[in-house]
Amino acid sequence: MRILVTGGAGFIGSHLIDRLMEQGHEVLCLDNFYTGHKRNILKWFGNPYFELIRHDITEPIRLEVDQIYHLACPASPIHYQFNPVKTIKVNVLGTLYMLGLAKRVNARILLASTSEVYGDPDVHPQPEEYRGNVSCTGLRACYDEGKRVAETLAFEYHREHKTDIRVARIFNTYGPRMLENDGRVVSNFIVQALKGKPLTVYGDGSQTRSFCYVSDLVEGLMRLMNGDYIGPINLGNPGEYTILELAQMIQGMINPDTELVYKPLPQDDPKQRQPDITKAKTYLGWEPTIPLKEGLELAIKDFRERVS
Ligand code: NAD
Ligand code: UDP
Repeated sequence: MRILVTGGAGFIGSHLIDRLMEQGHEVLCLDNFYTGHKRNILKWFGNPYFELIRHDITEPIRLEVDQIYHLACPASPIHYQFNPVKTIKVNVLGTLYMLGLAKRVNARILLASTSEVYGDPDVHPQPEEYRGNVSCTGLRACYDEGKRVAETLAFEYHREHKTDIRVARIFNTYGPRMLENDGRVVSNFIVQALKGKPLTVYGDGSQTRSFCYVSDLVEGLMRLMNGDYIGPINLGNPGEYTILELAQMIQGMINPDTELVYKPLPQDDPKQRQPDITKAKTYLGWEPTIPLKEGLELAIKDFRERVS
């Protein structure tokens, strides 16, 4: 098949491309390199089944493809808040253009949505039926509300034009190739510990997240794309940890002498987050296989090669 991956030079996109290339597909990687990097896809340069398209998703594009994994969008708060209006354009215009492309060429399109559509959830763990608790004016809204509109667009294209959609709600994912300056908690703590700097815990560290290793997530995305269930469907690891527990775990794994420092909690930071993955188990036969400690070891190994 000929498969387009938007955001393919990014963290999740590049791991997905590795799997698709290994399966013998023809892969088109579309990226503007905002948070993605050529080194993530370097090994496919020169392969006749791989094509790199430097393009900004907020402009339309015409391509002939069978499937579209639509991942283009900065995922880390510091990057999506750097230019919030652009983040909204990426989610609204970018998704609109990709759905238009899918409609025109009759391609199946998978939207990478997010657990952020649940906002600061007051239902725990979060099932797909939960409608969320999102601020439409806060600092995270450009991303949260952007993704909510992206989901709405996908379902309206499906209802109105019979576009073949899949919608994944991805929970916190980590692993090799996260940027050193990504700003997300796992990469921050690993880089800080490797550099012997204090680990920056925001708030009192009692807020929780559930961390999924990237290969598990990619497997879930591919099962969703190639199955019959359209979603929305939660993809994430139900193992829930406080941020303080995560800091202590990484501290213990890299350098027990590093300190923890407490910094103010960012605005609208969700207090708790854990996916209910009943649907993913039922419809995709999917659940994560890599426990946090094992995945962190793999991520730490990758960061050690880059950080000195
Ligand atoms: P990432 O920042 O590493 O990747 C995003 C990619 O999109 C980058 O390569 C970036 O250059 C590209 N991009 C950004 N704006 C673009 C534009 N205007 N035109 C073309 N390309 C553009 O992030 P990631 O962690 O790999 O996330 C991938 C997708 O998964 C995103 O849609 C994100 O919202 C979603 N997601 C990720 C997580 C997570 O924990 N990693 C959680 C929920 C949802
Ligand atoms: N966080 C932290 N220290 C950091 C970076 C993040 O304590 O250096 C916290 C952040 O406040 C949030 C959690 O870790 O409660 C996860 O943050 P991240 O940005 O990784 O993801 P998101 O908030 O989007 O789930």
